[in-house]
Amino acid sequence: MLKLYNTASSKLEEFKPLDEVVKIYTCGPTVYSEAHIGNLTAYIYWDLLIRTLRADGYKVKRVLNLTDVGHLTSDADSGEDKLEKGAAREGLTVWEVADRYIEKFMQDYRDLNLIEPEVLARATDYIEEDMQAVDLMKEHGFTYETKDGVYFDTSKYDAYADFAKLDLAGLQAGARVEFSDEKRNVSDFAVWKFIQPGEKHAMRWDFLGRPGYPGWHLECCSIIHKELGEPIDIHTGGIDHIPVHHTNEIAECFAAYGSKLAHYWLHCDFITVDGQKISKSLGNTYSLDDLARQQFTPIDYKMWVLSGHYQGTRNFTFDSLAAAKARRLNWRNKIAECYQTDVVSDGSFEKILAAVNNNLNSAEAFAVIDGAILSLEDWQKVDELFGLNLLEDTPDISAEVHALIREREQAREAKDFEKADVLRDKLAELSIEVNDTADGPVWRYTK
Ligand code: AMP
Ligand code: ZN
Repeated sequence: MLKLYNTASSKLEEFKPLDEVVKIYTCGPTVYSEAHIGNLTAYIYWDLLIRTLRADGYKVKRVLNLTDVGHLTSDADSGEDKLEKGAAREGLTVWEVADRYIEKFMQDYRDLNLIEPEVLARATDYIEEDMQAVDLMKEHGFTYETKDGVYFDTSKYDAYADFAKLDLAGLQAGARVEFSDEKRNVSDFAVWKFIQPGEKHAMRWDFLGRPGYPGWHLECCSIIHKELGEPIDIHTGGIDHIPVHHTNEIAECFAAYGSKLAHYWLHCDFITVDGQKISKSLGNTYSLDDLARQQFTPIDYKMWVLSGHYQGTRNFTFDSLAAAKARRLNWRNKIAECYQTDVVSDGSFEKILAAVNNNLNSAEAFAVIDGAILSLEDWQKVDELFGLNLLEDTPDISAEVHALIREREQAREAKDFEKADVLRDKLAELSIEVNDTADGPVWRYTK
């Protein structure tokens, strides 16, 4: 039985699917710069969610959006448009910036061995749906127009504060100074922005008689409506999405379609680096390429992420990354043992599966793996559950390695030690170390 912590109820709940295919939506990246390791944690944890559901026998349909329009540098409809910012920085068009970082993001996705979503949805492919949703929200009396755009009147939606347990009165009082007189309530947000005469904004669509573009939150609502149909089973994101982005998605879905958006809401916490917030000014916005320059692979990073729980605040250090890497090598060598002797399972895979079914507790699952005796078949299941490329040589180490080991044995028997040493070096190049024991050669992985 799968249990998940649902932000909507603040409780650990038993997962009950709505239908035969579990519908999942993951808020994706704004594609204006390279992802840092903090941005990538979410996709690693939600990959475990998908793999756990699959291990439990569910069919899954997942949608991931790519925000290529409308996300301003502040979540509260102010500041620069992130794509315009990226374009100015790189001397490219906004469309080129989006293409570049979508490609980079998908490369990270593959390098981390994450299961690709069934639908990858670019926000700019859903502008028609956005316009229809704005019309519906207006028709249902939830919006008003200012010279700046179409705003959602949050006072018209009684349940607005419920999801994030917002203190609206406190917010209103605290924000008085910079409160725009055109916005009726401090929590109101743009569902559509108008482009002012003279304003530079390359992505623009004519709607309501003027050029404009959608507010950030609307794309998720439109994409879910078109690709999955609300309500969906599970909606995922980072904890920072709770008070604004997800609160606004929920409000829009109710206002446009009169329906609930999702049953279960999962949010992962932030990581720090060396005890500090990730920020450009501290120079700690490491990408996977930065880790590679220090000899760590994307899978080493995935090991590090999964060695903690998605709801915990984690602190990244290169020492802890090295420990995660060493742990994986240790597991690989348990697999090497399985290739060489008949290892009888102690039945621990059930405990591993139970741990991830308990609110995706990968930290506990990893601790079980450390102490378990697993058969080759168990390791195959472990690899499928976490996607760690542990058995890249499955079902056996490659024919080439086997042949080299055999050849080396024959050379040793013929007392041709020179040849045996050359073969040992060849194996070392393939990251295999051979030790000669009384029972014959025993090999292990060196990475
Ligand atoms: P940003 O580009 O910094 O706005 O980040 C995009 C998304 O990545 C955020 O909305 C968060 O959900 C996630 N994120 C950013 N920084 C971190 C972090 N340090 N740890 C985990 N997730 C993060
Ligand atoms: Zn979203």
